[in-house]
Amino acid sequence: MSRTSRTNLRRSRMALIAAGALVAAAAGSAAAVAPFGATAAAAAGCTVDYKIQNQWNGGLTAAVSVTNNGAALSSWQLQWSFAGSEQISQGWNATVSQSGAAVTAKSLSYNGALATGGSASFGFNASGNGNSTVPATFKLNGVTCNGDSTGPTDPPDPTDPPAGSKVNNPYAGAKVYVNPEWSANAAAEPGGSRVANQPTGVWLDRIAAIEGANGGMGLRDHLDAALAQKGSGELVVQLVIYNLPGRDCSALASNGELGPTEIGRYKTEYIDPIAAILADSKYAGLRIVTTVEIDSLPNLVTNAGGRPTATPACDVMKANGNYVKGVGYALNKLGDAGNVYNYIDAGHHGWIGWDDNFGASADVFHQAATAEGATVDDVQGFITNTANYSALKETNFKIEDSVNGTSVRQSKWVDWNRYTDELSFAQAFRTKLVSVGFKSDIGMLIDTSRNGWGGAARPTGPGATTSVDTYVDGGRNDRRIHLGNWCNQAGAGLGERPKAAPEAGIDAYVWMKPPGESDGSSKEIPNTEGKGFDRMCDPTYTGNARNNNNMSGALGDAPISGKWFSAQFQELMKNAYPAL
Ligand code: BGC
Repeated sequence: MSRTSRTNLRRSRMALIAAGALVAAAAGSAAAVAPFGATAAAAAGCTVDYKIQNQWNGGLTAAVSVTNNGAALSSWQLQWSFAGSEQISQGWNATVSQSGAAVTAKSLSYNGALATGGSASFGFNASGNGNSTVPATFKLNGVTCNGDSTGPTDPPDPTDPPAGSKVNNPYAGAKVYVNPEWSANAAAEPGGSRVANQPTGVWLDRIAAIEGANGGMGLRDHLDAALAQKGSGELVVQLVIYNLPGRDCSALASNGELGPTEIGRYKTEYIDPIAAILADSKYAGLRIVTTVEIDSLPNLVTNAGGRPTATPACDVMKANGNYVKGVGYALNKLGDAGNVYNYIDAGHHGWIGWDDNFGASADVFHQAATAEGATVDDVQGFITNTANYSALKETNFKIEDSVNGTSVRQSKWVDWNRYTDELSFAQAFRTKLVSVGFKSDIGMLIDTSRNGWGGAARPTGPGATTSVDTYVDGGRNDRRIHLGNWCNQAGAGLGERPKAAPEAGIDAYVWMKPPGESDGSSKEIPNTEGKGFDRMCDPTYTGNARNNNNMSGALGDAPISGKWFSAQFQELMKNAYPAL
């Protein structure tokens, strides 16, 4: 598959620390040779003079002066980390706060304006052990005070809500980030330019994806590109958090890099670094949507614990609690940033729409949302149908219909489910989630990337009323062989284009699964990503308990999950509904 080569958006930062208490800014390497002393030639960046005025065993008093060598600023914040156990107790001429070792001093209304060359001074008292030293690095408005050639800029749009006051629907009034890598793949396909400017999810599907796997863009690269796309308006960036220990326990196609017990690595090598990047004030003006751990919690409900559909791997994950802990940890850590909006994955109607699964899933989601320090306040909403194919609306029959006295619920296709399509399910499930303790203003996302079901096979009206099965099968828009089929479905099309607030209770239709990226290989393909071969991706497979022993309905010749699958992309465009 062809991927765009990585653009080097990250600047290299020089670790120029001047002697003593003075941290000098330098305009790239050129200004490192300063003709008039360490700071005089600093044409851009910032200079910090940090003086420990008084220190005793128990505390210290410091005076700090920051000089802006970049473009004029209307407000500023200076950040550093203490090397020891210092704790700020009081600040003056700035609001000085501390989280862990990290300190942030924010300007006040009367000293926020900093012209080029202008300085502001503030001070603080802190507790300590008498051995406090001058911090190694300072950042002014997110830019390190050494070696950045452009210097600090004003923090993003002043109309952005301050940290902690999230908007109710992040998609309302906002553009959504177009992933340049997916866009290039789509645009390279014949006819692909018709959709290449659509926003799709950025999947952080392994630890290496944070820095950029296989030469691809890393998280900062995406966020920097998002800032460029944002302009002066609002912009949503959609991230998929997808790397739990023992990932994809009921299938093999998206097995991941972490073993079932590696919750420690999940926290420290995956979630913590992502949370640190998202908390960077540079990105505070972006609305960052995170969809958290696709398929994981629903698997604990339906595919574990003695059910006929249980798999040994899901039994392990249910018993060790690492899905619940991992999701709780992710929600808690990621939700700390004032501009991050967490949506938990909630399967789809053909998975948890049955009575046995519906309430039980809501309960497990609540358990996860209150684990590991998370609270329901960390949850903006839920996403359904991620990477699945369930039709948004079944327009030719309703769940209340019956044929010759037999309910639609008794048809083979519906099979006692309470819901016939994603929209009715998502709306009803939202109500259920609120009833178990989630906030009353949560919103739902529906992944409509591949649930269009248009093209020649789309029914033009209800099926014949010979029997409930002819009625449902003749009229249903979802043309899958069975609702439980999930891999590279033949006949599928692109669904509704991404759209904010399309229906009551729905925050947005989104394309979280990037259309054209495979769900799994149709035969065994060795790889280094931990991806297995799941026979649900093999078109000759006759099924298992989870699809009631039906044919898989998968396209042949598929690459491993996540890789570009040109033939599928062409078919999705051909069968798009609405048509392209
Ligand atoms: C794969 C991921 C991939 C994602 C999006 C998943 O099925 O396991 O590696 O990033 O799909 O295509």
